[in-house]
Amino acid sequence: MTDVLVAGGGIGGLSAAYALATAGYSVRLLERSAEFGEVGAGLQLAPNATRILREWGLLDEIAQAGVLPRRLVLADAVSGDELVHAELTGEFKKRYHAPYVVVHRSDLHRILVEACRRAGVTLETGRTVERVDSTEDTAFTYCADGSVFESQIAVAADGLTSKLRRAVADDEPICSGYVAYRGAVPAEEASTAMPLDDVVAWIGPRCHLVQYGLRRGELVNRVAVFASPAYERGETDWGGPDELEEAFAGCGEHVRRSLSSLWRDRRWPMYDRIPVENWVSGRLVLTGDAAHPMLQYLAQGACQAIEDAHTLAAEAVKGEDWGTALAAFNSSRASRTARVQRTARTWGDIWHVDGVGRLLRNELMTSLAEVYRHTDWLYA
Ligand code: FAD
Repeated sequence: MTDVLVAGGGIGGLSAAYALATAGYSVRLLERSAEFGEVGAGLQLAPNATRILREWGLLDEIAQAGVLPRRLVLADAVSGDELVHAELTGEFKKRYHAPYVVVHRSDLHRILVEACRRAGVTLETGRTVERVDSTEDTAFTYCADGSVFESQIAVAADGLTSKLRRAVADDEPICSGYVAYRGAVPAEEASTAMPLDDVVAWIGPRCHLVQYGLRRGELVNRVAVFASPAYERGETDWGGPDELEEAFAGCGEHVRRSLSSLWRDRRWPMYDRIPVENWVSGRLVLTGDAAHPMLQYLAQGACQAIEDAHTLAAEAVKGEDWGTALAAFNSSRASRTARVQRTARTWGDIWHVDGVGRLLRNELMTSLAEVYRHTDWLYA
């Protein structure tokens, strides 16, 4: 019997598997897809995650594959004017004891898969987990292909639409009515308006565009997000590419031009869930998006999954029984991730405000004297 079974091989599941394997546990990870992989777009890693990645010995490789941005900038999507920025080098790095890094998701995912292999994790693809039953000291994991695995604990890392979450909560993902389009194109093919070592969000009425460089600045990553009128009309097919240009029609030229570099054949409707306090059922524990899916406005979903993995391993190595470790993990993580989930929603509302609200927001943001007051709770 392995000590730990992890269901799901995204960033959350791989991080949990790696943290527990390097803490001395035998770990088996089951992923439903035929191959490990992540969609080819960017991911921001704030210092609360990069501190952990450095402790795990993975940060240098991740930073070499990515970009260490110079500034985090909020700009108005209509006028193009910069509103506020945080310098990410110098004092920021000293204050949070780690850098801000942006990386191609597939690079981070590959680095985590390789790290898990080195740490001795048994990695299996093509296995869909259906449910987990617990006795007092064993988790039984049942897969769609009829296989059953016994372990001391099972970690649910099966994402936003988690099947295993049903053991702790009778809820469904909540649709925001917003949809994201992504794209990563060679830098020489794209005009960028801002340097590629800036992470920039142009925020506008019911829409925004994020841009930053990837792979040492060879690629430009863009994410465009907007509220779908078709969703508001109650249509089932909503957020299609036909709505994209219109959603940004009131924005400045750079934002509108940037839309041409987005992939039109895939889109990400944006969902979260209401925070739940309990993530444990017997020997099953939730992590990552399965536990606390959030809107992506704070760029924290993967960062919080990495924090989960770190805390779970730290509680496990205290040597108490698994019941105590899972309860301690749950209680130290749930209130923090609930705050991130709630703040992400509010942050989205502030970004997407229109009319007088937008003018007031811009006025407040341009006069912000101290950004650390707003980032300490998250990054420190
Ligand atoms: P997932 O990535 O969903 O992984 C779940 C895995 O489990 C998948 O591999 C899936 O195939 C597998 N699986 C599912 N069901 C089963 C099953 N039954 N059996 C076996 N395997 C199963 N976060 C950041 O930190 N920074 C950012 O900049 C950022 N930007 C974002 C931008 C956008 C547009 C979006 C939508 C999200 C963003 N996020 C960001 C959030 C981040 O992507 C997620 O929070 C994170 O990837 C969640 O990881 P996870 O492993 O918990 O879940």
